[in-house]
Amino acid sequence: MEPLAFKRGMTELMDQGLDVEVMATDRSTSIQKLMREDFHNVQHEFDIWHTAKGFRKKMHKKAKKKGNEILLAWTRSVLVSVSVVLKCRWKSILQHVRNEHEWTDDDGEHHRCDHAPLTAQERRLRMWLKEDSLAFQDLSSLVLDKRLLRDMEKMALFKHTGPLEVFHSPLLKYIPKRKAFPFQGMRERCHLAILEHNENIVKRKQATTKTGELRFNRVFCKRSKQWVLKKIFTPHSF
Ligand SMILES: [Zn+2]
Repeated sequence: MEPLAFKRGMTELMDQGLDVEVMATDRSTSIQKLMREDFHNVQHEFDIWHTAKGFRKKMHKKAKKKGNEILLAWTRSVLVSVSVVLKCRWKSILQHVRNEHEWTDDDGEHHRCDHAPLTAQERRLRMWLKEDSLAFQDLSSLVLDKRLLRDMEKMALFKHTGPLEVFHSPLLKYIPKRKAFPFQGMRERCHLAILEHNENIVKRKQATTKTGELRFNRVFCKRSKQWVLKKIFTPHSF
């Protein structure tokens, strides 16, 4: 049912004139096949968060085996590791632009670009950068920007299909998985979930005090071990 719904949804969106450039999904093989065969003009990306989450789940399962409890201590590192890999790939652009496609980093680790070997003509025609050029220095400072690299950790794990996960919560309320509904019922229940989502997530405003100031809460974030401000929103409406 999933590939069928996916195909219908995509076709309808595109028929209505929406120009879909990138589609991020989990790694379901049937969707991969569909994207390859029916929507080959759309770039297909995997949601890294799903992959990391899935891997963590598998690790938790293995950790339940007797004698394997030690694995539990390592599951959190999985998510961190994903962002490290991503950062590493991101930084590799600084090699590629200099026509260097295999290199060894400061830690003695060997890396190479993901692309297929370039033909002689491709090598000749690209406008490679010289390491001592100002252009390369400027690009480096942009790519290696500390704040960007730090933000990337969050981008890698929580963007993409994250907002869709939020939508699943009202969806499950109106369409519990354990019950079967006829097509019409499914559709109308889905509409209700969309209305609720739009009303409470998309359109919801930050709460204000009587004098009109925005309201915040102070919350301790365990992960970053810092106090952060969280917006207080107006009450949910159903
Ligand atoms: Zn390269």
